[in-house]
Amino acid sequence: MKKTDGSARMKAILGGKGANLAEMAKLGLPVPPGFTISTAVCVYYLKHNRTPPGLKQQVQRGLEYIEECVGRRFGDEENPLLISVRSGAPASMPGMMDTILNLGLNDKTVAGLARQTNSRRFALDAYRRFIQMFGDVVLKSGRAEFEKVLEQERERAGVKSDAELNEAALARIVVRFKEIVLKRTGQEIPREPQQQLWQAIEAVLKSWNNPRAKEYRRIYSIPENWGTAVNIQAMVFGNLGEDSATGVLFTRDPGTGDKNLFCEYLTNAQGEDIVAGIRTPLPATQLKIELPEIYRQLKWIARRLERHYRDMMDVEWTVEKGRLYILQCRSGKRSPQAEVKIAVEMQKERLISRVEAVQRVDPEKIAALLHKTITPGAKYEVAAKGIAASPGAAGGEIVLTAARAVEYAQQGRPVILVRHQTSADDVAGMAKAEGILTAAGGTTSHAAVVARGMGKPAVVGCSELKIDYTSGKVKIGKAEISEGTVITIDGNTGNVIIGEVAMEEPKLTPEFETILRWADQFRRLRVRTNADTPADAGKARELGAEGIGLCRTEHMFFAPDRVGVMQEMILAEDYEGRKRALEKLLPMQRQDFIEIFRVMDGLPVTIRTLDPPLHEFLPKEEAKIAELAQHLGITVERIKETLHRLNEQNPMLGFRGCRLGIIYPQITEMQARAIFEAASQVKKEGIRVMPEIMIPLVSDVNELLLQRQLIEAVAEKVFAETGVKIKFTVGTMIEVPRAALLADEIAGVADFFSFGTNDLTQLTLAYSRDDYGKFFAGYQTLGIVKENPFETLDTKGVGLLMKVGIQKGRRTNPKLKIGICGEHGGDPQTIIFCNKIGLDYVSCSPYRVPVARLVAAQAALGRAERKDV
Ligand code: ADP
Ligand code: MG
Ligand code: MG
Repeated sequence: MKKTDGSARMKAILGGKGANLAEMAKLGLPVPPGFTISTAVCVYYLKHNRTPPGLKQQVQRGLEYIEECVGRRFGDEENPLLISVRSGAPASMPGMMDTILNLGLNDKTVAGLARQTNSRRFALDAYRRFIQMFGDVVLKSGRAEFEKVLEQERERAGVKSDAELNEAALARIVVRFKEIVLKRTGQEIPREPQQQLWQAIEAVLKSWNNPRAKEYRRIYSIPENWGTAVNIQAMVFGNLGEDSATGVLFTRDPGTGDKNLFCEYLTNAQGEDIVAGIRTPLPATQLKIELPEIYRQLKWIARRLERHYRDMMDVEWTVEKGRLYILQCRSGKRSPQAEVKIAVEMQKERLISRVEAVQRVDPEKIAALLHKTITPGAKYEVAAKGIAASPGAAGGEIVLTAARAVEYAQQGRPVILVRHQTSADDVAGMAKAEGILTAAGGTTSHAAVVARGMGKPAVVGCSELKIDYTSGKVKIGKAEISEGTVITIDGNTGNVIIGEVAMEEPKLTPEFETILRWADQFRRLRVRTNADTPADAGKARELGAEGIGLCRTEHMFFAPDRVGVMQEMILAEDYEGRKRALEKLLPMQRQDFIEIFRVMDGLPVTIRTLDPPLHEFLPKEEAKIAELAQHLGITVERIKETLHRLNEQNPMLGFRGCRLGIIYPQITEMQARAIFEAASQVKKEGIRVMPEIMIPLVSDVNELLLQRQLIEAVAEKVFAETGVKIKFTVGTMIEVPRAALLADEIAGVADFFSFGTNDLTQLTLAYSRDDYGKFFAGYQTLGIVKENPFETLDTKGVGLLMKVGIQKGRRTNPKLKIGICGEHGGDPQTIIFCNKIGLDYVSCSPYRVPVARLVAAQAALGRAERKDV
């Protein structure tokens, strides 16, 4: 590289590869000389379909510079210079675009190269590689036929690797390769090196738009308009014999994060052989024995690079006849565990600050650390693919009903619950399953939301899954299995695998704790959890939750021993009957709260009053209806009648939320009583209890007012009975657009707001959470929406309502505490937005708490929202 021009800071212009090559040259590392054509040229080329004026002269001057450094001339028949033409975008896109090595060879220069290196075998090897790459990348011959020829020659010679092929074989290969190119493309490889160079440059520029590269950019959100740079560099040869080699190196172990030199290399090979996978590369321990001097130099260089870049680096290197060259360096990709460990250890080594350590860790990697995962490198066959809905991997026998899940789990048999889709009825079974697989639904389906909340792996929307509940037979892709067959699901990739796969336990390392402790020092947003059970609450607290932001009381009523009493309440003839049933629910509900308060000692607990439509608690199947009728001593007709009466065309907009507690005040009264009695009891035990009662689906201030008065009256009564006074607050969810718009009125009677962004999204966009799947993919393809608004908050629309709500609410009540408790509370982009608009806290499922702690810190430290959302 030209020493003086360019540096690592110029990635936008020089691309990552070019900028880092320039930087390393500046550091005095042994980088082969070269120069870089800027990304602007690529942008120009793709727009005008020709290279910009003046480029020819500049490239000529660059070539002359290389010639001077190396003492060889491009195209010279006696002493030819060979070069590589390498792509390199501003963001790392490993292997996505094309590179051509050994450029400058033709029938004449190859003879010169043979004389110069004293090895005709080597020269022919370089030549056949050049024909192969140029044929494939520039002339589009494809690769398959080259591989076939190589295979035939290896077989004929009885050897395993190309490195063992002799001169005669290589000479034949060169001839056959040329034939392949001509046959497949109708063209010959240009003899004139200048012509080779320009065709190669154009091919690299065009490769920005190859399908592979486009797909990669889509997945990693790399802008389409950046373009690639082109690096032109003198070749060095790792295939010049046993004292030559090529390899890659990570300055630390990218899997574990351990501070060991991690490398893989091959002797007598050229760069692309490492990836080709024909010969197995050797590890660092072997390098230390085989090429000790190189090992020592690499160790020194690794240290140098880490000190300079203050990061773990991934380095490509080549040894030519005992001399080491560095061909590339970039920030190394690493596992979740390594990411955390390296960030913490680099801070301890004073390479980076605490702020940087916190900024560097990708929040999704934190999430991945909390789940079992498939062991990297494990071999398996994917039977079908669904949507990766909740991370981690899980294996077990498949069961098709929640009841069977409970039954098997009681026998200690791990199960995967397989359903077309799940509903509230399945929650008990889900809780017992290792993982959940559904045929329908998306990432915010019931199965997905509940699984994430439980921290269980889930794959949903697996369209290649067909379940026959009556016969117990299941089709997954081509496989036909039945209840009891063991499968594995991978909630990180959406893969479904028949049989067992090797898995790794989550590793909650000391470094994990450390990085989150540091994050806590920087964040402003508080992080709470959505938890309905003491177990969830305890887990969340362990993971750093600072309170419960949403405790849904209805989940408690779905428990098998409760739902009966709940049904009795719903089916009661009259006020008295309802009251009797509610009296039975009271002690159960009180016990729930006692346990949760104990776990959350000293932290606030937001309890939401009953929210879902009542018919959700009633059975739908004939058999179950009959069972219930018998149990309650009423007729099947009575139940059907009630079902009919409760049936709604659009339950989402029906008799639910605070409407229940307003029309049936006894329900709210019972819940309030349970809360205050529980609070009084635990307070006597010395527990610091801070209940916050939250009213759902409020759209008018009077709804909140009525519920508030009712709750306050119960409080007075209970305090008088128990002789204990509890400090509590009453607030509301803001999940109806009207409530956000009239937040100033509502704030007059609310102590807090909590944005229920699931419903708020449904109601603002008029997208039913249960039905949007039917059109959503089409909308995404058409570019009408980018992100799924149920995953990442629609900051433009729903976010605007939130801003209005906050502003108006705080104007009336400056002390108003404001949070978010929708699923979005665990989404990084949403958390950054919540920080910006001034929320006090976010609340998310227990396993997202560490993610939220980290993102909240990153947001406070200035991490901006992604612009393309
Ligand atoms: P990628 O971006 O796919 O890694 P590279 O441009 O880095 O592509 O090149 C592919 C392979 O060729 C790498 O192994 C690299 O080290 C090797 N290589 C590139 N340039 C040279 C060179 N000048 N001399 C020797 N090997 C090279
Ligand atoms: Mg590379
Ligand atoms: Mg809601």
